[in-house]
Amino acid sequence: MIAILGGTFNPIHLGHLHLAKQLKAKLGFDSIRFVPAALPALKDAPSATAEQRAELVKITIENQAHFTLDTRELSRSGTSYTIDTLISLREELGNEVSICWLMGSDAFAHLNAWHRWQELLNYVHLVVVKRPHSDDLSKLNAEIKKLLNTHEAKHAKEIKQHANGKILIQEVAALDISSTQIRENISHGKDASALVPPAALQYIKSHQLYKQA
Ligand code: ATP
Ligand code: MG
Repeated sequence: MIAILGGTFNPIHLGHLHLAKQLKAKLGFDSIRFVPAALPALKDAPSATAEQRAELVKITIENQAHFTLDTRELSRSGTSYTIDTLISLREELGNEVSICWLMGSDAFAHLNAWHRWQELLNYVHLVVVKRPHSDDLSKLNAEIKKLLNTHEAKHAKEIKQHANGKILIQEVAALDISSTQIRENISHGKDASALVPPAALQYIKSHQLYKQA
């Protein structure tokens, strides 16, 4: 079973790592691929370049045996649509293996804004984790509610038994950390060492990232 954590990673933080580690331990993924978005569809252009954000991921996970950096979105031009990544992942991995796309509840709550969102489950499962202090999951819009009703996994084993097509809402103690908060802290000269892994923080400092908010 393979897991994918897609994101802007502007920058990667301890909340991402914690999420990946907790879900790997609970659900038994063989590996987790971190997929930085080159040009996110639904956000302003990130302040750090795609290469810098990918490098931040790379140096953070390089000593973690089951975590890998997947730069396929950096090799495509134009907007980074998740659906294109999923099609390309299935071309590489085949249709038999179970693939889980990991996401926070904030991302899930806006899934119906994603390009070709109704097709995502033809390629992967979604594993959704509640972000701390959010009520995203209790305020889902009608389209997402319907999607969840149709596809929700009642038990975690369902994501092993099928290659795609389920939505698992997984309880984990997520950390209350966001890249937005980190960029703000750094732009105000505040210490971010409790939020950012040491290698990434070193890189941010030496490349003077996020100095301007
Ligand atoms: P930003 O504040 O710039 O939006 P972010 O912290 O949300 O950044 P992203 O790169 O946008 O980070 O997140 C990638 C994925 O990881 C998303 O699905 C998001 O919901 C999830 N995620 C991010 N931070 C956490 C966290 N602390 N706990 C659980 N999931 C998280
Ligand atoms: Mg976010």
